[in-house]
Amino acid sequence: MSHVIRSDDPTRMSTPFWPRPPERYPGQLPEQADVLVIGGGITGVSLMHHLRVRGIDAVLVERNHLAAGASGRNAGFLLAGVADCYSEAVRIFGRSRARDIWNMTMENHAEEIEAVAGQEIGHRRKGSVILAASERETERLAESAQLMTEDGFDCTWDGSRLTNPGDGEVTPSLLVGAFARLAPAGSVREGVEVTGIQAGKGMQGRVRDPRHQRLHAPAPAPGSDPAKAGADAGVKAGGDPAG
Ligand SMILES: Cc1cc2nc3c(=O)[nH]c(=O)nc-3n(C[C@H](O)[C@H](O)[C@H](O)COP(=O)(O)OP(=O)(O)OC[C@H]3O[C@@H](n4cnc5c(N)ncnc54)[C@H](O)[C@@H]3O)c2cc1C
Repeated sequence: MSHVIRSDDPTRMSTPFWPRPPERYPGQLPEQADVLVIGGGITGVSLMHHLRVRGIDAVLVERNHLAAGASGRNAGFLLAGVADCYSEAVRIFGRSRARDIWNMTMENHAEEIEAVAGQEIGHRRKGSVILAASERETERLAESAQLMTEDGFDCTWDGSRLTNPGDGEVTPSLLVGAFARLAPAGSVREGVEVTGIQAGKGMQGRVRDPRHQRLHAPAPAPGSDPAKAGADAGVKAGGDPAG
């Protein structure tokens, strides 16, 4: 017998294992921002960080609460590379690109942790072990270990386990909360759902909701698709986000 969980609201499908970030971000939208970030998962809050360090004025809206989606429900592993093993990535992307991807993800791991230094996010860097589940996988992992070693990545292969000592883990919802804490006051709003994006006119677009909350977003560059640039989006402001 199988259990199927159905819900109209994808954020209420199940109860996450991880605790929700403790802060609440209610309140009105600011009147204006250069960039509107939609969604308070790790993508949105880390983007807010990168925009802030570049001096770009941005507002993040989240329809439910921070880390309500995948970022508050994942395993919290900070692993180098992609879902496929290194040898498979080399086959798919080519040797040089696979190496670049591995380097980029390892740098990203270090940069994320540095960005939220001093905040408790459950970070541990104790490495990871990948076990082969079949003979085919054993061959792939053995090949991966050889290619990774040749490409300068620290790993060991003992015939059945590929160990990556640089990998780590976090409490994913705490990482989201830590990035959000770095955002300027008033630039994060929970309980605000973007319900549509329409092309704006002239040099300014706007975001509005049924209660006529508006946020002025910048105009698209000449020749660009204004809808893609988020020129005029409709938002629905909720009450107290579900918790
Ligand atoms: C079971 C599972 C395990 C995983 N394990 C790992 C792992 O160990 N390590 C790893 O690196 N990755 C893992 N991942 C992948 C990782 O969780 C995702 O890549 C990552 O969380 C995506 O972050 P996100 O911010 O893009 O999306 P989300 O975290 O889903 O955030 C999107 C947010 O946008 C909000 N939103 C959506 N639409 C609107 C709207 N119209 N208006 C306002 N807000 C809106 C949602 O409410 C949500 O909060 C796992 C994923 C799953 C499902």
